[in-house]
Amino acid sequence: MNLKDKIRVISDFPKEGIRFKDITTLLKDGQALRETIEQLALLAEEMQPDIVVGPEARGFVIGTPLAYHMGKGFVPIRKKGKLPCETLKGEYKLEYGTDALEIHKDALEPGQKVVIADDLLATGGTIETCINLVEQAGAQVVGVIFLIELTYLSGREVLHDYAVKSLIKF
Ligand code: AMP
Repeated sequence: MNLKDKIRVISDFPKEGIRFKDITTLLKDGQALRETIEQLALLAEEMQPDIVVGPEARGFVIGTPLAYHMGKGFVPIRKKGKLPCETLKGEYKLEYGTDALEIHKDALEPGQKVVIADDLLATGGTIETCINLVEQAGAQVVGVIFLIELTYLSGREVLHDYAVKSLIKF
């Protein structure tokens, strides 16, 4: 199956000039969803992780079934103020000002091998913050997996110290 054809591209959403990659059209197709997770798992298994980490919200949609498929656990990274226990924080830049992502302080073990999974690599800013959180927790990022990579934004360069793999490229 051509998984790329299952992704709907919407022009000028959420603002002018952005070509939004809508994965809901892939997710609702049972066979496409299964193939997506199986193929991502093949990429992730080469990295030999102990656990999968994914950021809110589409990182949950990709990361949790990926972890389940590999028989591993899943750890969420959330926007600030959402996690109930003690957290580590990582700030990231927005167009105006900053925002922060958080992970539970006790979610990862020191030295644990982590694969970070998300739906899409654009500039790489989000995943840079996620890597920072995993490393603050003392764990080791063995790789980063994306369903989609926007190669024209060169997010891969920001992540040059890490193994980066993606299934579909635009
Ligand atoms: P970035 O931090 O720039 O790599 O952007 C990461 C997040 O923004 C991704 O995980 C997506 O959820 C979202 N995103 C950025 N650009 C797009 C796009 N063109 N289409 C859909 N989602 C996008």
